[in-house]
Amino acid sequence: KVRETLKTGYEFYNPEQWEKGKQIVDISGHLPAALQEGEIQVWYQPQVDYTSGTISGAEALCRWKHAKRGWISPGVFIPVLEETGMIFDLDSYVWDKVCQDLHRWNQEGKRRSVSINLSRSDIREDRNIPGIFYELTKKYDLDPEQLRIEITETAYVESPAFLIKTTSELREYGFQVEMDDFGSGYSSLHMLKEVPVDRIKMDLHFLTGAGDMEKSRIIITQVIKLVELLGMKLIAEGVETKAQADFLKERGCQEMQGYYFFKPMPVEDFEKAFDKELDYDKRA
Ligand code: C2E
Ligand code: MG
Ligand code: MG
Ligand code: MG
Repeated sequence: KVRETLKTGYEFYNPEQWEKGKQIVDISGHLPAALQEGEIQVWYQPQVDYTSGTISGAEALCRWKHAKRGWISPGVFIPVLEETGMIFDLDSYVWDKVCQDLHRWNQEGKRRSVSINLSRSDIREDRNIPGIFYELTKKYDLDPEQLRIEITETAYVESPAFLIKTTSELREYGFQVEMDDFGSGYSSLHMLKEVPVDRIKMDLHFLTGAGDMEKSRIIITQVIKLVELLGMKLIAEGVETKAQADFLKERGCQEMQGYYFFKPMPVEDFEKAFDKELDYDKRA
């Protein structure tokens, strides 16, 4: 195969493939050192209850300051790590760090809940994800309710049976399970029926920007009602303007996350933000 490639020269000189290969080597190959050397950081984006004007939780999002490439976006390195399966190493690191932070806050009398991302390639039949989270709660003396486990909606498409088993077990342990990016995939309604989750994360991106605003409003309004009728909780993500926040509140969605309120921030800044009330002009 190699000889054939060399003979034709085609694959070897395909610049796109070459770039992609280089990226995979750069990113995946460098991950162990990056974890070791502290290039990976866990940032937090606060989630707010718009009605009460308080911070209700946060989502943990990783950030990578790569030695050669500088800051690289999760949008770039997460898909690469998912492809090589190394995402589990990154996620294990992130989850442990989040649990350490939760433990510290508990000790300070500041009980918080944090959403963490579980990648679809983390979920494998030879890996006991619920057991891993259970061990973390023992190690750091946490209440399972303090962990909200986000699984992206597109993940549900691939192997629903095992996914349903995993989410059910997570909930039996007392973890909160959230369906991330609801509305951006194509099996949303089916998955709402099949997969037991506590909270839906409605991604506003798919409804904003170009397109018919009136239709967006109708869809958002009906999703809010639907989730309520199904007895689940709801949070809107990607809230960028006061108009969006006011509209969501008027239609009965109180929990929000987005640049309008806060961008993701390092843990020190998050700790300071949490103790304050929301800025006056950011309250409903
Ligand atoms: P996600 O889980 O849907 O996270 C929300 C993304 O939207 C984050 O991007 C966040 O910074 C961004 N965001 C928040 N508010 C707004 C807003 O108002 N407007 C816009 N335009 N964007 C907003 P980020 O941090 O770049 O992460 C991208 C994706 O990478 C995440 O999407 C998640 O799927 C994945 N990811 C990030 N950190 C981790 C991690 O530690 N583990 C795993 N498995 N995936 C992660
Ligand atoms: Mg998420
Ligand atoms: Mg999301
Ligand atoms: Mg997203």
